[in-house]
Amino acid sequence: MTRAYNFSAGPAGLPDTVIYQAQAEFSEYRDWRASVAEVSHRSAGFIELKRQTDALLRELLGISEEYAVLYLAGGATGQAAAVPLNLTGDCSAAAYIISGHWSRRAADEARQFCEVHIAGDSADSNYTTLPAELNIPASAAYLHLAENETVHGVEYPALPPSPLPIVADLSSNIATRVINVNDYGLIYAGAQKNLGIAGLTLVIVKKSLLRLQASLPSVWDYQKQWQSDSMYNTPPTFQIYLLGVMLHWLQQQGGVAQIEQLNRSKAQLLYDCLDAGDFYVTSVQDGHSRSRINVPFFLADEKLTADFLAGAEENGLLGLKGHKALGGIRASLYNSMPLAGVAALVEYMREFERVRG
Ligand SMILES: *Cc1c(COP(=O)(O)O)cnc(C)c1O
Repeated sequence: MTRAYNFSAGPAGLPDTVIYQAQAEFSEYRDWRASVAEVSHRSAGFIELKRQTDALLRELLGISEEYAVLYLAGGATGQAAAVPLNLTGDCSAAAYIISGHWSRRAADEARQFCEVHIAGDSADSNYTTLPAELNIPASAAYLHLAENETVHGVEYPALPPSPLPIVADLSSNIATRVINVNDYGLIYAGAQKNLGIAGLTLVIVKKSLLRLQASLPSVWDYQKQWQSDSMYNTPPTFQIYLLGVMLHWLQQQGGVAQIEQLNRSKAQLLYDCLDAGDFYVTSVQDGHSRSRINVPFFLADEKLTADFLAGAEENGLLGLKGHKALGGIRASLYNSMPLAGVAALVEYMREFERVRG
């Protein structure tokens, strides 16, 4: 058997070279005579591995010393709670833009801990466009948004202007295009879409926003985690190792600017196919709101969906079933998906249309 093209929304496929390198290094890492998964997170070897991984992440994403990078567990969902707990401070309100499933979940989570002001909501378009108008209160602690909505397939082409520090969930689009980290107060992202495997969550936070908190659970306390180099307790060590392998792979691809070009070509190829006829229907018609990374679509005749998915699997195209909230199909084009994988998908789609259309 050979590895198929994996369009899974998350956890997502990894580049073949990353898989094989991790396989080769799993039982004995370099001269350690043990696996990365078997050593103390406080050993000199692991601390050096983590230091080098942090340096490469900072280099590839352009993260300055004004920002702390935390290597935590708990997923993006954990951060949806940790953010209001850490950042609302004296002011008890935060502003949220709702542009789909994940930003709505983040706002619902935050409501347990602070007053939530909805600064914009695209429910009236069923989350097929970004919110047209924003109403951002000057008095809130931060403005939260999900830069790419993994389920609904909408993505901000650029950050909206905001008088407040922007807190952004980049779980599905971190490292897929060049950003200016200085435009953000805080970025969080689970690793399992573009930076490795589930179990590691990155938090990139402007140090000036951190302050001592009274009575926070220690593992959720950004200040404590920063001061202990994300080692207040055992961090996800193997996931941090795998992040390093992914970052080296990304560097070999030419870095984020190069992969951004590739990601645009991949998205263009798929959207051109979807827009070419009426056999397939994209939910997001507005080009300005379309995600380059997660592309939900439907067969105009929904009765054909199960056959489409079964045939795709037979042709080595995995993970295309849509999220349960939308149904239909979803193709996720994360960094590790090669252009050839999207070309194979498009070829399969044309053939399926020719036979069944
Ligand atoms: C996948 C995803 C999440 C959820 O991540 P967990 O690791 O399951 O908590 C949150 N936000 C976005 C944008 C995602 O893509």
